[in-house]
Amino acid sequence: MANTEKTAGELLQERLLMHPENGGIILSDEELEKAFAFCEGYKKFLDEAKTEREAVDLVVAMAEKAGYVPFDPKADYKAGDKVYLNNRGKALLMCTFGTEPISKGVRIVVSHLDNPRLDLKPNPLYEEAQLGYLKTHYYGGIKKYQWGAIPLALHGVIVKKNGETVRVSIGEDENDPIFCVTDLLPHLAREQMKRTLNEGLRGEELNVLIGCHPFRDDKASEKVKLNLIRLLNEKYGIVEADFLSAELCVVPAFKARDLGLDRAMIGAYGHDDRVCAYTSLMAELEQKTPSHTTVLALADKEETGSEGNTGLDSRYLEDFVKDLAAMQGETGRAVLAASTCLSADVNAAYDPTFGDVCERRNTSYLNYGVVITKYTGSGGKYGTSDATAEYMASVRRLLDEGGVVWQTGELGKVDAGGGGTVAKYIAKLNVDVVDVGVPVLSMHAPLEVVSKVDVYMTYRAFSEFIK
Ligand code: MN
Ligand code: MN
Repeated sequence: MANTEKTAGELLQERLLMHPENGGIILSDEELEKAFAFCEGYKKFLDEAKTEREAVDLVVAMAEKAGYVPFDPKADYKAGDKVYLNNRGKALLMCTFGTEPISKGVRIVVSHLDNPRLDLKPNPLYEEAQLGYLKTHYYGGIKKYQWGAIPLALHGVIVKKNGETVRVSIGEDENDPIFCVTDLLPHLAREQMKRTLNEGLRGEELNVLIGCHPFRDDKASEKVKLNLIRLLNEKYGIVEADFLSAELCVVPAFKARDLGLDRAMIGAYGHDDRVCAYTSLMAELEQKTPSHTTVLALADKEETGSEGNTGLDSRYLEDFVKDLAAMQGETGRAVLAASTCLSADVNAAYDPTFGDVCERRNTSYLNYGVVITKYTGSGGKYGTSDATAEYMASVRRLLDEGGVVWQTGELGKVDAGGGGTVAKYIAKLNVDVVDVGVPVLSMHAPLEVVSKVDVYMTYRAFSEFIK
């Protein structure tokens, strides 16, 4: 007969040691169903918003449906009122007024809507060897070789000289044409194969193939290019010079799909960081009368360093909190100092195929829940906001009491590389902040992978934080 009594050692282990889940989270059938259902909405969001502009348009529509109105710093608001501030159609702030006075601080969640991609150059269109191409300049940290020979779509806006804005989206509908960056056949790639991975495809080789039919004419030159601009003119009413005032992005043309026989994961373009944007958005939308006023920031430009007036190194978030403070006769600095923030961004999930870049005791794993990252940075914590022990304790308490499954993780081994998030820009405002997010496999690749359970637990974490 088995002895079910625990030994003194087992009891001591139970009381004193950490108990990481063995083999990932096992949720009840009911919770698992909720997590999977939640992710159906997330996949739709991924498919409908592939750039920060499309995401802002979509979120504004969702917010207005949920009762949010454009923010007016001169208006009077009461608990439960909902406002938003649209920063140039590329970044967004949302807010639900709380029952506590603003002097108690606000609860900020920040994430970003921009994703690594290929941006068109200002003068992109050219023809060579009777093929029509678009020149690109990549945006964010990509492995360039991953962008060759995959289906691509074109998204963005063109603003004509008269101010009229044309929205472009080609390659998403199954009846749309797609585009691609060509790569060299292996038979003739002997020299290319000797390049380093970084140079597998070079920046100036990321040229997007968009056509090959010449315009029928005996005299005109560059007839393929002419035919392409003719098609664009027919569809959008633009001329070549209108590319000069455009923001056109080339992104993967495929849709978000369930990944795995168990459908436990999602493979998609742009989880970083729309997964945190969507989960924090869902938590924000459902707030009725939170105790503290909530501020949800959906930022742009994180992937290129947060500079620019729609990035979080700009003052728009600070100014918004100052406006909230002024409404109740408080100073912005006092409100900021009393505020707390979750900086919501993805982290690298442990990938056993490339396990040697992680330190296994301090890395995050797929399907182990939302990951809390005390600090990021590189080379001796350089360039990081390191959350205080006090703030870490309050976040631990919050998540444990809310029944949120969570884990902790550093971004890779010491000196293996590193990276940063927007946390340091929030810390600059004198706000307590820590990084929270979803572990991702193949981060920044055209197809990134997340676990549905982690997505759901991240949503739960934000809900607990702002309720
Ligand atoms: Mn990110
Ligand atoms: Mn990123």
